[in-house]
Amino acid sequence: DDLLRIEGVSKTYKGGVVALHPVDLAIRRGEIFALLGPNGAGKTTLISIVCGIVVPSAGRILVDGEDAVVNYRQVRRRVGLVPQELSTDAFESVLATVTFSRRLFGRSGHSAYIEELLRDLSLWDKRDAKIKDLSGGMKRRVLIAKALAHEPDLLFLDEPSAGVDVSLRRDMWKLVHRLRERGVTIILTTHYIEEAEEMADRVGVISRGKLLLVDDKAALMKKLGKRELDLTLVEPLAAVPTELAEWHPTIENGGHTLRYVFDATEERTGIPSFLRRLGELGIAFKDLETSKSSLEDIFVDLVGDAK
Ligand code: ADP
Ligand code: MG
Repeated sequence: DDLLRIEGVSKTYKGGVVALHPVDLAIRRGEIFALLGPNGAGKTTLISIVCGIVVPSAGRILVDGEDAVVNYRQVRRRVGLVPQELSTDAFESVLATVTFSRRLFGRSGHSAYIEELLRDLSLWDKRDAKIKDLSGGMKRRVLIAKALAHEPDLLFLDEPSAGVDVSLRRDMWKLVHRLRERGVTIILTTHYIEEAEEMADRVGVISRGKLLLVDDKAALMKKLGKRELDLTLVEPLAAVPTELAEWHPTIENGGHTLRYVFDATEERTGIPSFLRRLGELGIAFKDLETSKSSLEDIFVDLVGDAK
């Protein structure tokens, strides 16, 4: 049951920057979907198009089968966006700001919904505080409250933990799960693999304006978990010792180096057990390096060079 369908949506900015090659994507009702990709991949562009902020160069967007351009007003009120930048009206109170956002969409200002929303976001006690006096984490909650004020079905969160302290990130992750319990379908963008892993049901990997693959989180994490470790040895080996080859089949001998390809999601075959094994066999090494370290490398590894 698809709530949102993105069909052949592309974007070339003025000046010829191709931010997005044609993207096809269907979002299921009630899911949390993470758009995972490095900076400049086109994540913000894609969600800005769906939210009606950026004009697409081509393609269609359908919410519940309704064309987002033809039925702009109806569709727009079903969508809420929490932007990447933490800017909002600093001198207004929390309650005034959130109520205003609700009225913009033609809903009544005073409502039990707003109180419940602010309580849910732990903002009710701060409803009369000026936004400028709140912490960074609280400000982001205000932006979430604003985005949800008009009771949308679809919530877009652009980099929800960018600029959020690592210790506060977990709170954000829990909050996103609570928002889903309110019945909201959530699409978030992130450049952190662990964030996609914590939050999403499904993940779309995007790089250089191309949606490279879409998969269930568990399946994707298994793929992302494949890493390579290169060891520089003290003494070259003529061959991989039988004991080591039997222990794990993906160890290649390059004379002065050993390359170990392993699944980082499996405890038994991780780097610590490999190094312990080498110790037991008396194989000494000078240096070690995981060769698939950056997101970009991992993407290329997953889907081939997308250039
Ligand atoms: P992400 O959110 O994944 O970091 P963006 O969607 O912000 O990526 O950007 C994708 C590409 O489009 C980048 O190369 C960026 O520089 C370019 N871009 C974004 N916004 C504009 C704009 N308003 N004008 C021109 N180029 C832009
Ligand atoms: Mg962005």
